[in-house]
Amino acid sequence: MKSRSGRTATAASAAGRDAQLFMTTPNEFSRCVAQYDPHALPVPAAQAIVRQWAAPVTAIERLALRDALDRVLAADIVSPIDVPSHDNSAMDGYAFNRAALATGAATVELAIVGKALAGHPFAGRVEASQCVRVMTGACMPADCDTVVPQELVERGTDSVSIRFAANAVTAGANRRLAGEDLARGHAALRSGRIMRASDLGLLASLGIGEVNVRRRLRVAFFSTGDELRSLGEPLDPGCVYDSNRYTLFAMLRRLNIDALDLGVVRDEPAAMEGALRSAAANADVVLTSGGVSVGEADFTRQLLQTFGDVAFWNLAMRPGRPLAFGRVWSGERPGVGRPALFFGLPGNPVAVMVAFYQIVREVLLLMSGATPQPLPVIHAMSRRAIRKRAGRTEFQRGLAEQDVHGQWHVTPTGSQSSGVLSSMSEANCFIVLGHDEGEIAEGERVAIMLFDGLI
Ligand code: AMP
Ligand code: MG
Repeated sequence: MKSRSGRTATAASAAGRDAQLFMTTPNEFSRCVAQYDPHALPVPAAQAIVRQWAAPVTAIERLALRDALDRVLAADIVSPIDVPSHDNSAMDGYAFNRAALATGAATVELAIVGKALAGHPFAGRVEASQCVRVMTGACMPADCDTVVPQELVERGTDSVSIRFAANAVTAGANRRLAGEDLARGHAALRSGRIMRASDLGLLASLGIGEVNVRRRLRVAFFSTGDELRSLGEPLDPGCVYDSNRYTLFAMLRRLNIDALDLGVVRDEPAAMEGALRSAAANADVVLTSGGVSVGEADFTRQLLQTFGDVAFWNLAMRPGRPLAFGRVWSGERPGVGRPALFFGLPGNPVAVMVAFYQIVREVLLLMSGATPQPLPVIHAMSRRAIRKRAGRTEFQRGLAEQDVHGQWHVTPTGSQSSGVLSSMSEANCFIVLGHDEGEIAEGERVAIMLFDGLI
């Protein structure tokens, strides 16, 4: 891979991003993967190419713990303390030393010499023949290492002693060790972690009230098409309301990305130029929908090649086949001004969602500084025969349910046309039909990707 001029690298670092990733054109990338045909690029190949461009944002913000929910940790968090800080009882019961179990007697009898509650330790000494009444979470008294649960003991009539069978507990039982949850000096959470509810609790348990997170990724998006009307406008004959901006907004919001809506842009070079340059000036990534299919590609191609280095792909994928990928610049030509990564998504509403989840999502997470996990795939029996041609990956919309035996079944939802958004709303999963798969028979096993937690 040949690198570009120093000018490009300087502009990229001025934008605060990894210059390396802005030093190669998509065309050069395409050449690097010459074994693939850009007219039928397999989904995994497209994913691998775009992934190489995902340089994480570098700016860091320091936030109060609660504000860090869904944000991306910028560094490992090392535990400053042991959690728990002391050995403590896991049960309500009686703490004693294990020596009492080793006398050979079938029954152990111990005198109660005190009491320890959570937050109120017992400070005295405990002899081998003695025990301390303990509640869950109470510090283990010195000399004690074992707890017998209260339901396993008989209390003496005088209430100052207990008896229990020696085989009722093993030495060391029912005691939580200091550092068992988190040991001091160990990484409690790793850089790249997207902070969840449990993570907020975990950091609170370490006494940590503020964390360093990466700044949120900024994504600008707009729709293209003379037929599009925004909400509130009258719907002229032959026009449609712009739904893609709402889907895109929501999908970006789910990833906790700062979404910048630039509206509808007419199919007209000057309008498109203004929108692209302003998007590149204000965002890390630019997403557009529409205008990349065969009929329109010529005008878009010319324009995108004036302000950026953009490759036009025909993905071996359905829906979501036409896709433009590269970068656009805020200046009057590539290399001038500020660059932004660019994805020209297809116009059809379902195709936008499929292309977003399969091609764009991972890059946005990587650029946010996160360590994305692959989307979980499970297997289900298809309730219908499904038409499918080998040589492309299909993402059909399906309704999956589990039977009483726990087996998953899936039914494709209505029309699989890429314009039919209601089939997506009805669905609860994608049925993923792999590149090499052909026709699916009724009852055959297929891969599904559940929407829950994704959409
Ligand atoms: P295009 O890719 O521009 O040829 O658009 C393909 C189809 O998607 C056409 O039927 C468009 O009307 C429709 N479409 C394009 N953009 C949008 C949008 N933002 N909202 C709803 N439908 C759209
Ligand atoms: Mg169009």
